[in-house]
Amino acid sequence: MTSPLLPVFARAELSFEKGEGPWLYGRDGQRYLDFGAGIAVNALGHAHPHLVKALTEQASKLWHSSNLFQIPEGERLAQRLVENTFADVVFFSNSGAEANEAAIKMARKYHHAGGNPERFRIITFEGAFHGRTLATIAAGGQAKYIEGFGPKVEGFDQVPLNDLEALKAAITPETAALMIEPLQGEGGVRTVDNAFLRELRALCDSQGILLIFDEIQTGVGRTGKLFAYEWTGVTPDIMSVAKGIGGGFPLGACLATREAARGMTAGTHGTTFGGNPLAMAVGNAVLDVVLAPGFLKEVEQKGLLLKQRLAELKDRHPSVIAEVRGFGLMMGLRTVVPNTDFVAAARAQKIIVIGAGDNVVRLLPPLIISDADISEAFNRLDAACAAMEAEKTKAQPGAA
Ligand SMILES: *Cc1c(COP(=O)(O)O)cnc(C)c1O
Repeated sequence: MTSPLLPVFARAELSFEKGEGPWLYGRDGQRYLDFGAGIAVNALGHAHPHLVKALTEQASKLWHSSNLFQIPEGERLAQRLVENTFADVVFFSNSGAEANEAAIKMARKYHHAGGNPERFRIITFEGAFHGRTLATIAAGGQAKYIEGFGPKVEGFDQVPLNDLEALKAAITPETAALMIEPLQGEGGVRTVDNAFLRELRALCDSQGILLIFDEIQTGVGRTGKLFAYEWTGVTPDIMSVAKGIGGGFPLGACLATREAARGMTAGTHGTTFGGNPLAMAVGNAVLDVVLAPGFLKEVEQKGLLLKQRLAELKDRHPSVIAEVRGFGLMMGLRTVVPNTDFVAAARAQKIIVIGAGDNVVRLLPPLIISDADISEAFNRLDAACAAMEAEKTKAQPGAA
């Protein structure tokens, strides 16, 4: 059967009819442990009662009123984000790519407003992923996403990750900003040295360059802090957020200091849907849970437990797993086998995990995951590894 959907996704032969906490119920009658969380989106798992209540209550009152009017729910969400971060101001979008578009425009406009319109270039890092709009594919720099879509949007330069000398050499009088994920997601859960991030901050300060953190995947508790930059000892000037912030409702945000946002005056940017009352109600409900005393500390502890169990898994299956990466509940396994085989083998054991670049498999469980479910995940992944090992032995008779 040919689908009427544009075939841009390589979808698995599986769909779900409902979810509950970290569990997904497939239309195949099976129950799956969800260690993908809709790509780090379902931060509080599925059908979290507090989110369901917030959504349904707001749905019966007002969905959308447009940004022509005040939206008190949005003022409140922005205020809470400001109180809990480096930022002074917030722009709400519907997606990560749009949050990054706002960040990119803001950085360029900052220099324009300061009398330096020639400063519009943004330096990004190899392995980055910033979204699928024309500007954000140029920012991400991956040929497979850029090719065929006409001239690459001008103004993005890319250097290797954790390479300070290459970065220094790439900075020119036209450089407006550096843009980086403090822990790369799609690129393969690749960590960035804290020392490198501190150097970025120092370089930016000494040369009047803005520092943009893309925390679309790392934010909203994923690493055990509200935002991953809190681990690094540096703060950005601009930060993009999405994925977990809506708990499954489409929501993104661009946060900034008032100084970095100085060019963004009335009429310079906009959105029809962004920040509507429905999204704002859900965003506030997500923060109610994530900011509750002790919640993030628990995420941090679950992260340590998961990391320990994954190290054990690697030790048990060296012919399948080469390396454990990441921190908090944003973990990666660089596999020896093709990562797509691992994802499929895990699915056969009824656990959902997600592929990434660099032959990595991502584990992104909902933040509400229990210790018992982490053990359950270990057992299922252990079985998946054993099945792959048995497959390998069968394929090479006499090898084992
Ligand atoms: C997912 C992601 C994006 C893009 O977000 P969309 O909502 O798909 O537009 C950008 N940056 C990072 C780091 C991401 O993980």
